[in-house]
Amino acid sequence: MKALVKAQPKEGLWLQDIPVPGISHNDVLIKILKTAICGTDVHIYNWDKWSQKNVPVPMHIGHEFVGKIVAVGSHVKDCRPGDLVSGEGHIICGHCRNCLAGRRHLCRDTKGVGVNRPGAFAQYLAIPVTNVWFCDEKIPLDILACFDPLGNAVHTALTFDVLGEDVLITGAGPIGCMAAAIAKHAGARNIVVTDPNPFRLGLAKKAGATRVVNPEKENLTKVQKELGMREGFDVAMEMSGSPAALDAILDNMFHGGKIALLGILPEKIPMDWNKVIFNMLTIKGIYGRQMFETWYKMTAMVQSGLDISPLITHRFDYTEFQKGFDVMRTGKSGKVILDWD
Ligand code: NAD
Ligand code: ZN
Repeated sequence: MKALVKAQPKEGLWLQDIPVPGISHNDVLIKILKTAICGTDVHIYNWDKWSQKNVPVPMHIGHEFVGKIVAVGSHVKDCRPGDLVSGEGHIICGHCRNCLAGRRHLCRDTKGVGVNRPGAFAQYLAIPVTNVWFCDEKIPLDILACFDPLGNAVHTALTFDVLGEDVLITGAGPIGCMAAAIAKHAGARNIVVTDPNPFRLGLAKKAGATRVVNPEKENLTKVQKELGMREGFDVAMEMSGSPAALDAILDNMFHGGKIALLGILPEKIPMDWNKVIFNMLTIKGIYGRQMFETWYKMTAMVQSGLDISPLITHRFDYTEFQKGFDVMRTGKSGKVILDWD
């Protein structure tokens, strides 16, 4: 089969012929129809420090996908060839305390599809049946291919109650924009999204932000006044990984406000902890998706009108993957889809 392989420990990815993966008793084999490119894939393409530490070479990458089951292991009873599926890319250990308690998203020994085990940028993918999400065939394939990052956005955006609340989202990457759309769907009042990249602010508007802010040009405190807000944001979602964005959040929260951190920050950044203490802020880190409550919620929201299609900006055949990675690296993109069918 064809697959996009990190074949050498340097910048780039290579389209190669490799064997179709085998399946054991509890696995399913999925024929990939569409995939989406994640920021993580771009990190691996660039071969940054994180990738050098975490990705063994050779490895075919990718973890955002939709496909059809073509074969099942001998112990798999509840799905069949032909089923349309996406899947959770965190493969858990199954025997740590959290796994045993059913809190699978908190597994202490998670392995990542397309990071440290074979990925979905390939014609076929094998994963355990317990990682399969059955898809509603009425949802377009491009959207289903984005369920993994949509899940990050849903997990973050629904962590704190946003109904009637004023929400600040820092970072208008695909996940920040999805979070804006979810906050709107879930009934937030003001949804302010910040990003220094004007293209991305345009996307955030399309997603449903009520106000977008370039932090290099505008001050959030002024924006609050303009919106008639008097005491700060009730809920913030950090989705940029920028320490400056976290500072801006701490400066603009309602006392007692709640902050969800998804963006991956540099190690050990300084921050003004007294703002957290004296303003009694709650901060919660978010990793991945809840298995599978997040998948359930996102399906339900898409079925009830959540539309993330404006955030899909580019579509390519898998043979043109280079164009996809090039546009991702310019920052002038939302989600980029690769077609494998
Ligand atoms: P992305 O890199 O495409 O988007 C980040 C955006 O933040 C960019 O548009 C950038 O211009 C913007 N930004 C940079 N500095 C900023 C600042 N000071 N203020 C406001 N915006 C600023 O990322 P993405 O794919 O949308 O993912 C969002 C973040 O979530 C990334 O940090 C990613 O690594 C992280 N992530 C975490 C998890 C998890 O499980 N915790 C999962 C997926 C992604
Ligand atoms: Zn575990």
